[in-house]
Amino acid sequence: MVLRLLYILLLINVDLMSAQIFDVENIKLSGDDSKRITLVILSEGYQDSELSQFITDAENFTNSMFNQSPLKEYANYFNVYAIKVPSAESGADHPGTSIEPLETPISPIVPIKTVDTYFNATYDAFGKHRLLYYEIDGNSANNTEAIISTVLANNFPTYDQALIIVNSSEFGGSGGKFPMTYSGFWGANVAVHELGHSLFNLKDEYYPGDDLAAEAINMTQETDQNLVRWKNWLNINDIGIYQYTCATGNCSDWYKPHQNCIMEFIDRPFCSVCKEGIIEKIHSLVSPIDSYTPVSNTVSNSSFPIDFHLNLIKPIPNTLESSWSLNTSNIASNVDDVSVLETDLNAGINTLTAIITDNTQLIKVTNHETIHVYTVTWTIDNSSLGVNDIESDINSLSIVMFPNPANTIANFKIESEKDAKLKVDITSLDGKKVKTVSLSNYTTRQVDISNLSEGIYVANFYANNTLVTSKKLVKQ
Ligand SMILES: [Zn+2]
Repeated sequence: MVLRLLYILLLINVDLMSAQIFDVENIKLSGDDSKRITLVILSEGYQDSELSQFITDAENFTNSMFNQSPLKEYANYFNVYAIKVPSAESGADHPGTSIEPLETPISPIVPIKTVDTYFNATYDAFGKHRLLYYEIDGNSANNTEAIISTVLANNFPTYDQALIIVNSSEFGGSGGKFPMTYSGFWGANVAVHELGHSLFNLKDEYYPGDDLAAEAINMTQETDQNLVRWKNWLNINDIGIYQYTCATGNCSDWYKPHQNCIMEFIDRPFCSVCKEGIIEKIHSLVSPIDSYTPVSNTVSNSSFPIDFHLNLIKPIPNTLESSWSLNTSNIASNVDDVSVLETDLNAGINTLTAIITDNTQLIKVTNHETIHVYTVTWTIDNSSLGVNDIESDINSLSIVMFPNPANTIANFKIESEKDAKLKVDITSLDGKKVKTVSLSNYTTRQVDISNLSEGIYVANFYANNTLVTSKKLVKQ
């Protein structure tokens, strides 16, 4: 996916003489790394002789993680690799300094010990037994975060997210930049929970403490049903506005969407609000267009019909919808291929556009603030002597419209990867255009709708004069 500048910089700083190269194994391959979210699993507390067990653990974790919705539905969007990092000794430190009692699920209690491991994993971090972290109490004396970054830079610099599996049967884990989980029974669920933090920006649905409480996908101080960020889900799948509880802290100011989510209890699935947030993040990271043909200039003077093809990264089951238009008419929907005949083309420049959106029921698209739209456009230069040239272009857009319903002001924003001429038309249900507004890329435009009568309108969004999506706008 996105090559992170940080790691390029790290690479430059690494002394190549001391660069440690470890075996890297592929665990799950869905396609090209540059078109996928790449998860890299590192071993911690596995000795050389235990690294084959680490690979088995990484495989089992991967199977288990991608069996949980919505990672299950979007499994094709991920690649997984494992880096075999050997430790001198097995397991993790257990200093025995925890000030809180053991929590459920209860697992065997490891004896108090200190072991020599590559990433310094330890229980009892910040006074919590189950907080399995790479430093004790935030003491960065070992500089473990730099060690982890160096291992990644030397062995898999283009990773998107790392995960560390610690060779221990004792329940534990931690989130943050490099989430950790233990290798025992609930380990894969802990990994899913921690990735919920690290990769998908979810908050705990138990009270995480005043320092970590913040507005997020699944945490808010808003109690108004019409304003709460998960308003589209209220009263569906037990989604509500539930006050956090806690023994100490200001938890009564904070609310969560569910009472049985894996962000609270490790043995549960994600709640609907968390699922939606995860899918939104996946869509913002990865385009569902894996590849397409023809690419620019591979076809000239071709014979008719000319075949156009999309390779899409399909959710399971496939919820992608495609809409193909040639010049201004829609010619096909929900197919991966179209054929264009000579008689379909005008003389001169023709435009064929495929627009791809995800119609999954796991996100509440109708009223949803953001829509992700992906397009492929072929420009076909047709003359009496045949097709001179086909140029192709790919784009991804995210479209935001809020609030909805709106009373006086509706805000519109389009973020387009490519420079595009962007426009929104607001039409009434009888097809009358009541407003046309041009939009600048990455700029929120406030549109005064106070003079419109109450009712339902349709906002049609155009990029380079091609309709990319329509949304219902309710004027109150
Ligand atoms: Zn949740």
